[in-house]
Amino acid sequence: MATFLWSDIVFGPIHSRRVGTSLGINLLPVCGKLCTFDCIYCECGSMDSGAPKKDRRMPSYEQVAEAMSSRFKELFDQGVKVDSISFTGNGEPTLNKDFPAIVDKTVELRDKYFPAAVISVFSNSTTLDRPGVFDALMKVDNRIMKVDCSDIQILKDVNRPAGRFSLEKVLENLERFKGDFILQTMFFKGVVEGREIDLTAPELVAGWLDIVRRLRPYRIMAYSLDRDTPVDGLVKIGRERLQEITAPLRDEGFDVEIF
Ligand code: SF4
Repeated sequence: MATFLWSDIVFGPIHSRRVGTSLGINLLPVCGKLCTFDCIYCECGSMDSGAPKKDRRMPSYEQVAEAMSSRFKELFDQGVKVDSISFTGNGEPTLNKDFPAIVDKTVELRDKYFPAAVISVFSNSTTLDRPGVFDALMKVDNRIMKVDCSDIQILKDVNRPAGRFSLEKVLENLERFKGDFILQTMFFKGVVEGREIDLTAPELVAGWLDIVRRLRPYRIMAYSLDRDTPVDGLVKIGRERLQEITAPLRDEGFDVEIF
């Protein structure tokens, strides 16, 4: 059973050909996961296992501001050029009650030390009703919002939302961006607890294409499994199949990236 938890508030820099030199910001507990979902593919581990529950304390605004200020200055003084700053980490970053103020501080520090760096937030799209979250997301460069499936029952099996969940409400909230966001969608298949799940099945792909056409994001990130998953039996989808799934969108002029 895989569990990968970030153990710092600021981590990296990580170097990649795609985004260059990247820093990650973790606004969640450093020894546990906190999220409104518990996806069966989550690399932070499953909430059923003990590890992600060990730590429920989120860093405060003051702690994040201090961690970012000192690390950004340190890298600046070393002559490191940071290309990308991403809010990701051990769960849903917008759950941190200080998220709006932290975004403002991040923009301020980015402008001071790395003015060319792009700020991105990876979100599962469930918190847009929370005070300040939508407006804060509009202040960053990339809002990378998750929708994995159009079928509510299968979505519940895949993302395992906590409490009451309405896919229609999520989609209505995403419409408020008027297309000014990136949609991220995970594809995989496999047998989980004796049930077959195939997010590449034609009816699910058709439903997902309809969601894309309704929301009209300016970019779509389609990806599959990368690291080990907390649930056994999940199978990665190859690049060729992801190209097939997204081909109609490319034909319609959407910007699609495959990972
Ligand atoms: S939304 Fe992200 S952090 Fe939350 S459970 Fe799913 S994969 Fe993990």
